[in-house]
Amino acid sequence: MSNSLCWFRSDLRVRDNMALEAAFAIGPTVGLYIATPKQWQKHDDALIKLDFWRRNLLELESSLAKLGIPLVICQVADYAAVPAVIKDIIEKLEITALAFNAEYPLYEARRDEEVSMLCQALGVEVEAFHDQVLLQPGSILNNSGEPFKVFTPFSKKCRANLYMPDTAGTVSAPKLAAPALSAITKLSIAGQCPLKDVDWPQADPVWADRWPAGEAHAQKLLKEFSAARIRDYKKNRDFPAVTGTSSLSPWINAGVVSIRDCWRQATASHQGEGPETWKNELLWREFYRHIFFHYPHVSKKQPFKNNVGHVPWRHDENEFKLWCEGRTGIPIIDAAMRQLLETGWMHNRLRMITAMFLSKHLMIDWRLGEQWFMQNLIDGDFSANNGGWQWSASTGTDAVPYFRIFNPVTQSRRFDEAGDFIRHFVPELEELDNKSIHEPGLLKPEQYPVPIIDLKFGRERALAAFKQQ
Ligand SMILES: Cc1cc2nc3c(=O)[nH]c(=O)nc-3n(C[C@H](O)[C@H](O)[C@H](O)COP(=O)(O)OP(=O)(O)OC[C@H]3O[C@@H](n4cnc5c(N)ncnc54)[C@H](O)[C@@H]3O)c2cc1C
Repeated sequence: MSNSLCWFRSDLRVRDNMALEAAFAIGPTVGLYIATPKQWQKHDDALIKLDFWRRNLLELESSLAKLGIPLVICQVADYAAVPAVIKDIIEKLEITALAFNAEYPLYEARRDEEVSMLCQALGVEVEAFHDQVLLQPGSILNNSGEPFKVFTPFSKKCRANLYMPDTAGTVSAPKLAAPALSAITKLSIAGQCPLKDVDWPQADPVWADRWPAGEAHAQKLLKEFSAARIRDYKKNRDFPAVTGTSSLSPWINAGVVSIRDCWRQATASHQGEGPETWKNELLWREFYRHIFFHYPHVSKKQPFKNNVGHVPWRHDENEFKLWCEGRTGIPIIDAAMRQLLETGWMHNRLRMITAMFLSKHLMIDWRLGEQWFMQNLIDGDFSANNGGWQWSASTGTDAVPYFRIFNPVTQSRRFDEAGDFIRHFVPELEELDNKSIHEPGLLKPEQYPVPIIDLKFGRERALAAFKQQ
């Protein structure tokens, strides 16, 4: 009997999953997930993120089982070994069609291209779906037929072209059953192993409490956010001590909730300016994915702009370490970096402040900061992270002009006025009043470090270096 194959990657859900619906429409469906631990290392995937994905895969396995879809797990070193697994599974399970949801960074796109060519050679129907995005990359172009390099016109065109179905796609129990997992296991498919035997990193038990896995949880978060907090999103989203944003990024990036569901819920909430501002953020995510699609050089550690290749980045290991550990002596930076280490997540305003501080005041290569974020973020996403870093370092699309440099102390006074966020993550400053907590000049060095840099000096050094470009 012939079967179709749905290859899951960053789309760990059943609801509103284009590839799954397509595979299911063809016939009895088998799910596949290929773990690639060496690739994870090469891509600097954070341990907390990998554990989150493991837990979501467990949830996916059980949701698929209820639909009669076995989830085959295989482990190989890296993407180079993926086509051999796919070939083996195609031959042993008599697969006639393969469906997957496209991923846009260069190495993922190359892997998918190879697999598609293999399928064609084997006479297997193959289709990639643009499920991660609202609009297919390549379809949003300016009047000259070129990709947009600036966000605002891109977002306007997206809004004008967007067609959103009212309801989410679903799959129901199949008419014909796929083979049972126990029967598949006997076929000795290359690399097949139970999910628990994959080389997952050691998990910290607090991760599962802080970041629960599964579609039901993601849907609950989305509904709660769109029922209430979205109304004041525009007003609250920049204040890290307020729960003003959705915190949905880990679930969005693992594909546990679809981007269409996010857009639909925001539209349905009818709460004024808040939802429209939030949808704009979804479009930033969209923008960076389209950039990755059109400009593969950004996948190769290169600046987006071609005239910034000679910025004299500094390689000061000690300063970089102090930044990573949240010991710079600048409270808002330290609080933010400690939030990242403690929770695996950082507020967007703080991502901008810390990224700009590293790449401008310290003049340390933004790629080191990008890598540190990937190594620690539960929501680490190649395109959003790269886009955010290049924006902050003035090397990217739509980047801040090089002379606009956030002063972290001014930002701190503005966005954490009462110092609540700082007090939470830098408890040694807890006793300071609301004014001095942003710039605790008089403390003894053993209580709290003196700032690693004079902000005025750092700013002027950065201006001079960028000006020479
Ligand atoms: C230096 C830097 C690095 C970043 N690295 C990442 C990353 O690795 N992964 C990641 O998902 N986001 C990244 N961002 C974007 C943004 O900070 C996070 O998406 C956001 O903080 C997640 O919190 P939230 O879910 O509460 O967002 P909300 O404010 O609720 O926004 C909803 C969703 O929109 C998307 N989004 C929001 N802002 C942006 C943005 N500026 N760019 C792209 N997508 C956005 C995210 O999917 C987010 O979950 C980075 C930003 C900067 C400045």
